Amino acid sequence: MLVHLSLGSNTGDREGLLQLALRALNARNSVRVVSVSSIYETEPVGYQQQPDFLNLAAAVETGLAPLELLDVIQGIESQLGRETTVRWGPRVIDIDIVLWDGLELESARLTIPHRSFRERAFVLEPLREIAGDAVDPVTGLSIAELAARPTVQGWVRPHRPAPDAGSFV
Ligand code: ADP
Ligand code: MG
Repeated sequence: MLVHLSLGSNTGDREGLLQLALRALNARNSVRVVSVSSIYETEPVGYQQQPDFLNLAAAVETGLAPLELLDVIQGIESQLGRETTVRWGPRVIDIDIVLWDGLELESARLTIPHRSFRERAFVLEPLREIAGDAVDPVTGLSIAELAARPTVQGWVRPHRPAPDAGSFV
């Protein structure tokens, strides 16, 4: 199944952490990173008193079930030193499942598509680069269409081109 993820970091070696997270994902037999967007610098949304983020989007091919991939993601987050602090506060690494093919899922631990991605430029702009035509099953709109809506929040600016293919292998 093709799954779209959003990765972000706003403390420490932000770029290095994004790269380590991609590498840790790709190191799983059941997960293969198939494309990665450029890196964007983005404004914190929700809680402003914190450093700017670096964000990117990645597409992964996986044979895992949604909750199994969430377990993998949360394992990588804690391995990379994430501590739970303020909600929406600074984080070493945040990995969110944005789209899971056309799946809609609602459970205590996991909502797919991601609950708030439609309002967040830091998710939509990187994702548009690698999956502008992907469709949100809830609204029926493509990522490009969602990204063009006036209700999208936060500035984003290009920070660095996409990593070389293989740099996360
Ligand atoms: P956020 O990413 O919203 O800033 P967290 O990363 O701290 O917040 O996530 C809080 C919880 O969100 C996680 O414990 C996870 O169970 C839940 N969650 C629900 N839907 C998703 C999703 N699509 N991707 C990742 N986590 C999700
Ligand atoms: Mg998260």
